[in-house]
Amino acid sequence: MRELLSVLCCHTFHPELEAAARAEGWDDVRVIPYPVRCGCPAVRWEELLPLLPAGTTGVAVMGRACLNGLEPLEGSDLVTLIEPQQECFHLVAAPTLVNEAITRGSYLMTASWLAEWPAHLAKLGFAPDQAGEFFRDFACELLLLDSGQLSDAGERLQSMSQAVGLPARRERVGLDITRLLLRLTVNRLRWELERRRVQSRERRRAREVADLTTAMDLLGQLAMLQDEPEAVAAIEEMFRMLFAPSELFFVGWAEGVWQGLEALSPSLSAQVRGLREEWAWTASDTGFLLRLERSGHLQGVIVVEGLSFPAYREGYLETARSLAGICTLVIENARALRRIKKAEAALRRATTERLRESEIRFEATFEQAAVGIAVVSPEGRWLRVNRKLCQIVGYALEELMHLTFQEITHPDDLDKDLENVRRMLAGEIANYSMEKRYFHKNGDLVWINLTVSLVWRASGEPDYFIAVIEEIQARKEAESALRESEAHLREARRLAGLGDWKWDVRTGTHAWSEEVFRLLGCDPSGSPVGYPEVSAFFTRESWGPLADAVERSLVQGTPFGLDVEVAPENGGGTRWVTARGEALRDDDGAVRILRGTLQDITERKQAEEEIRTLNVELEARVMQRTAELEALNQELKEFAYVASHDLQEPLRTMNSYAEFLREDLGEALIQGAVEEDLRFISDAARRMQTLVQDLLAYSRSGRLEVKDHPVALGTCLTMVRENLQTSLEECAGTLTWGELPTVRGERSALISVFQNLLGNGLKFRRSGVSPVLRVEAEADGEAWRIRVSDNGIGIEERYLERIFLPFKRLHGRQAYPGSGLGLAIVKKIVERHGGGIRVESEPDRGSVFTVTLPCWHDDGSAS
Ligand code: ADP
Repeated sequence: MRELLSVLCCHTFHPELEAAARAEGWDDVRVIPYPVRCGCPAVRWEELLPLLPAGTTGVAVMGRACLNGLEPLEGSDLVTLIEPQQECFHLVAAPTLVNEAITRGSYLMTASWLAEWPAHLAKLGFAPDQAGEFFRDFACELLLLDSGQLSDAGERLQSMSQAVGLPARRERVGLDITRLLLRLTVNRLRWELERRRVQSRERRRAREVADLTTAMDLLGQLAMLQDEPEAVAAIEEMFRMLFAPSELFFVGWAEGVWQGLEALSPSLSAQVRGLREEWAWTASDTGFLLRLERSGHLQGVIVVEGLSFPAYREGYLETARSLAGICTLVIENARALRRIKKAEAALRRATTERLRESEIRFEATFEQAAVGIAVVSPEGRWLRVNRKLCQIVGYALEELMHLTFQEITHPDDLDKDLENVRRMLAGEIANYSMEKRYFHKNGDLVWINLTVSLVWRASGEPDYFIAVIEEIQARKEAESALRESEAHLREARRLAGLGDWKWDVRTGTHAWSEEVFRLLGCDPSGSPVGYPEVSAFFTRESWGPLADAVERSLVQGTPFGLDVEVAPENGGGTRWVTARGEALRDDDGAVRILRGTLQDITERKQAEEEIRTLNVELEARVMQRTAELEALNQELKEFAYVASHDLQEPLRTMNSYAEFLREDLGEALIQGAVEEDLRFISDAARRMQTLVQDLLAYSRSGRLEVKDHPVALGTCLTMVRENLQTSLEECAGTLTWGELPTVRGERSALISVFQNLLGNGLKFRRSGVSPVLRVEAEADGEAWRIRVSDNGIGIEERYLERIFLPFKRLHGRQAYPGSGLGLAIVKKIVERHGGGIRVESEPDRGSVFTVTLPCWHDDGSAS
């Protein structure tokens, strides 16, 4: 049988109930307003019944205060229910709120009532301009219980507030509570209908169904609560609504300690403590105590006292007991939630602290890092850079922040960098590392190693790059220098024909440098040849000693180095190399590795060979030359003999016969031309004789055997002065000397030196100037310098060198007689004594001849 349940309500709340019913989605429930408001006289069933639609099976009257005295309809098939709320407003607002508002003197309104307030007042006999009077005596403010139904409720309240001259307040109330009450009411109606239908046999089951529905609904409501006090307040509220008790309170057992009840009511406290069952009646027998317990853990006790409808006591209790389980769950959830919140707060505090610490650590790491670190936007703007990066690129922090990484990257490196960035943004790579160049602020290039990774937002967009920048300038320079020096080394090795090899004796592996291949005439792309197969590259004569040396090195670890001849595999001419090797030993002393070099010495060998050949040739030529010289010497000796004896002889004869002729002709005839001719003959003969003697002296001086005799130069000078005495007197000249040393040599030859020099000094005197000759000596390191000076005519500078050559004379024989051999002889003698001679002179001032002779030492040696 289809049910039609009608809910009659005070027309003031009709819209809210209507909305709640619609939200429930019932199609068998009608909400019907009746024109009564709180405080009006009681209505009777006769007035109400005509309002009910036909087919109504049950009717609930909500808002009992409006229907004072109305009792459930007896003796009718119609199931009637009088909703137990004390106040109509309880339908839409929590009783505590309503009680508080009434105590305060607030005029309670719903939104629907507000919408038509002038009409409502008019019905009560107050025109709109008298509205203020209506409220004046009993209301201090207007309170709108706003369920959100009316969109312009605020404005309406405002205008009403102005019209009636009262302040206005607005409390938001939930439609949910209306829905809950409506549902409870409807369920009870249904339950009652069902009860009646199935009679007493089915009674219990029907009740369970109803209880379950209610409990499920409450669960839905309460599970949304998040705080234990709120949960407890809501539970109390529920019990208040369901049972309308005169007293209700919750005794909570927080962490097993019961609270408050002792002070409140000692007898109740004793009863609660003794409560072992799930529930118990209170001492007054008009209420009950309910344990809220789960898994043996007591959460608290709900005390409900002074129930209004004892007739329903049993039914209430059943509902209450069902609700108790749910309430336990709710409290437990709330407590668990509280613990979670507490833990969350502690966690949050700890996390915040850790975060702060890690931020401090990060800050320190970031700023004090030995490498540059930067946070860079996806567009390349620096978002953050550390001190080290500023140092690397030479910019101040503010300057760098105005640049992009593209601007300070070398153009040649930029494309590669941007390609890496593109790939990372495309998600192809997670990070990258590359070496590149930055421009330093001063324009220099700085090599750096860059490592970049990308941080993504939770939304999947790129957030920022983290770049680590390590300066590698020094490394790059070192690498470049290394490459250069390696290239130099390679080049030097190539030029020097130096190759190196290594033989790992344990593994039997060989390694040759390119040059070794080349020296042995093999293809460098081939493999090294092992030992002893390598013998094929050497001549048999060379391999023997080389193999011996290698074997010795293998056994004894001795190094070796020897020149060997290579017979290259490619058939080219043989080459000579110096093969060097050394052994490296294991920790246990066994030879592990032999390594060494081969150096091309072919050219040296060839040069040595050439030198040897040349030496042999030279020796032969020297011997030949010596023989020739000896022969020449012999000839010269003979010439000297001839010159000294044979040439002088005719001269003497010429001279003698010229004298004879003078004697024979007598004084009388010797005059005029004859006299002159005879003088010419004698002069020529004498000159010839002098020339021959000088030539002999010159020839002798060249072959002078200098004996190791000490010669006191002072005694030489005494002798010279004696020889020149006549000449000195003739020209009124003077000859003096200072302290003179003893030297090593031939006394007669040295006398001849000084006689020549001093003789020239007298001969080349200035006319009208008496010659002044002076000899002085001074030590000069390991030699004596003996200066012979005169005040004669001097010599022009351009002739200074030439006068020491044989037959070089600067004047005609008439002006100054002489053979032109004197200084040549002096030079030869001095040189044969291991010394030298030079001249300084100034025309018309005089000349200084400086003779250098080695010092004589007491031990007889000369230096
Ligand atoms: P000679 O005296 O026989 O001419 P020397 O060999 O002694 O030959 O000298 C060569 C030349 O050097 C001389 O002819 C003279 O012109 C010049 N000469 C040598 N000694 C002096 C001197 N003391 N003063 C000026 N001229 C000199």
